[in-house]
Amino acid sequence: ILTARDVHKRFNGGPQSVEVLAGASLQVEAAQSLAITGASGSGKSTLLHVLGGLDRADAGSISVCGRDWTAMSAAEQGAWRNRCVGFVYQFHHLLPEFTALDNVMMPLRIRREPAAAAQTQAAEMLGRVGLAARIHHKPGELSGGERQRVAVARALVTRPALVLADEPTGNLDADAAQVVFDLLLQSARDHGTALVLVTHDHDLAARCGTVLHLSKGRLRPPGDFA
Ligand code: ATP
Ligand code: MG
Repeated sequence: ILTARDVHKRFNGGPQSVEVLAGASLQVEAAQSLAITGASGSGKSTLLHVLGGLDRADAGSISVCGRDWTAMSAAEQGAWRNRCVGFVYQFHHLLPEFTALDNVMMPLRIRREPAAAAQTQAAEMLGRVGLAARIHHKPGELSGGERQRVAVARALVTRPALVLADEPTGNLDADAAQVVFDLLLQSARDHGTALVLVTHDHDLAARCGTVLHLSKGRLRPPGDFA
């Protein structure tokens, strides 16, 4: 489902040029879960953005559902992302003026699903994340954990082949983190979703099929300091 080979990414901050990704490689198949750990600033968010086609790699190849981002125009990337990828952002990125229901309907509407069907599916997904009684609340009227669950519902509602989740449990207490994590793993198990998630929580990471550690721009098995 997802293959990245020798990915490089450099940011030019004026005189301070930083090579954040320096040959990162990974592979994730359907129904597999991969946890990525790494220090703050090691490039985890950058990696997810590049994997999801939200940002361009400088070099290397990344293929998602059989197509390489680098071979696509921006418009093609957008369409492919909408078809194959669900994204849970580090900071949930919900639209503040819209209700939870409208936020979760958004990716379905972008796919031109009729409003009534989109509404039914979005409400059902919000029920699955335990927010049936909150669907008409706006993000500002929800707790941090509830917002994060809305973001997860939005990422899963299209049943994408690949879900990229950037610290989906970062701002949650242990119980809420379990709930959100379980939802993501359940999607991998029940729908064959390939899951890549960034987490600082080593106990949660250990529940994923594979764990890789990002350091010096490359992904390595944890404990491999070569
Ligand atoms: P955290 O755990 O704190 O979320 P991270 O591993 O996700 O960190 P990134 O956000 O990927 O780290 O950032 C990696 C490095 O790239 C940082 O040193 C950051 O300063 C730099 N960086 C990220 N985005 C940009 C940008 N748009 N322009 C310049 N530098 C950037
Ligand atoms: Mg980050």
